[in-house]
Amino acid sequence: MSNVITAREAEELLRKGEQPPAGAILTPSARDLLLGHTKPAFKATGKAPAIVATGKKTSGPSIPDYEFKWTPGADPKTPAEIERFFNSPALQVLKERICDIGRRLWQREYTDGNGGNITIRVGDNLALCTPTLICKGFMKPEDMCLVDLDGDQLAGTRVRTSEAKTHFGIMKRQPACKSCVHAHPPHATAFAIANVDIPSCLIPEAEVFLGKIGVAKYQTPGTPANADEVGEVGKIHQAVLMQNHGVIVWGKDVEDAYWKMENIDSYCRTVWIATGLGGGLHRFTGGQAKELIDLRQKLGMPDPRAGLKECELCDSAEFRPGTVSAQPAKDSAPADPQIEAVVQQITEQILKQMTNSK
Ligand SMILES: [Zn+2]
Repeated sequence: MSNVITAREAEELLRKGEQPPAGAILTPSARDLLLGHTKPAFKATGKAPAIVATGKKTSGPSIPDYEFKWTPGADPKTPAEIERFFNSPALQVLKERICDIGRRLWQREYTDGNGGNITIRVGDNLALCTPTLICKGFMKPEDMCLVDLDGDQLAGTRVRTSEAKTHFGIMKRQPACKSCVHAHPPHATAFAIANVDIPSCLIPEAEVFLGKIGVAKYQTPGTPANADEVGEVGKIHQAVLMQNHGVIVWGKDVEDAYWKMENIDSYCRTVWIATGLGGGLHRFTGGQAKELIDLRQKLGMPDPRAGLKECELCDSAEFRPGTVSAQPAKDSAPADPQIEAVVQQITEQILKQMTNSK
């Protein structure tokens, strides 16, 4: 028997609220239907929660739009409704997307061991999240959990991550936050543990897509205090450095959030390399930064700098890298032979004493 699912069969699955069988091959139009790229011919009826995973398809180039939309006030309530929703094709797509993002986090070494976690808001008071104690590189859709925004688990066989509550600290305060990704990418996390502010006004794309990077003070991971601290900072910053911990980013969908994780770690890595070149950092001006912040505003992304004056925009001019490697200038004077001789003498004496003391 063929295991190819056609568009007509995909419509039938959607109508029944069922998933395609494991290993089924989807025709392109069936896939579009199940991903929500095209609308089924039938009209959604009455009782079932009106859940639509959207993905706009346009003729021109566009960034992926996987924002999940739900009908306010229609969260599933009874255990049967919750189970049906949790196992619906629309949520299956999101579970697969979380696995895909987890694999990308792990492949780029943004997570190690069981580190990192991912959430997608799927209702007024509902979110899908990754389970605790799992390597993000090898998750399966059936590992995912459904929780409410207080972190209480509603569905799924594995136990939800304790850090989901931190994500919900942001989601409860910022309605535009539909998905959070948390990880420990080494370059950005290095800034978080060195307690060094990430300098701004260096790369235009970072100003547009990350905006002003927020810093949340250290709190024990998974605690209500951490959720409050990160929530307050994340309300107005899409990328948050968590002191002595890592990074949390958010977006309208999980791909959008994940891109910010790549953006922030690449940015920190580039700044780190640039500081080692010894030539200082060249910044663009506050006026030029303002143009980028305006562009960010037009894209509908929050930025606490929106109301600031141009002269206040590049605010980390005091940034001084800890280590600078600089080549001596070509016309610098040769070393003084007298000083060289003294240094040599002292080195020999130290070595002699060390040998004697053994
Ligand atoms: Zn963490």
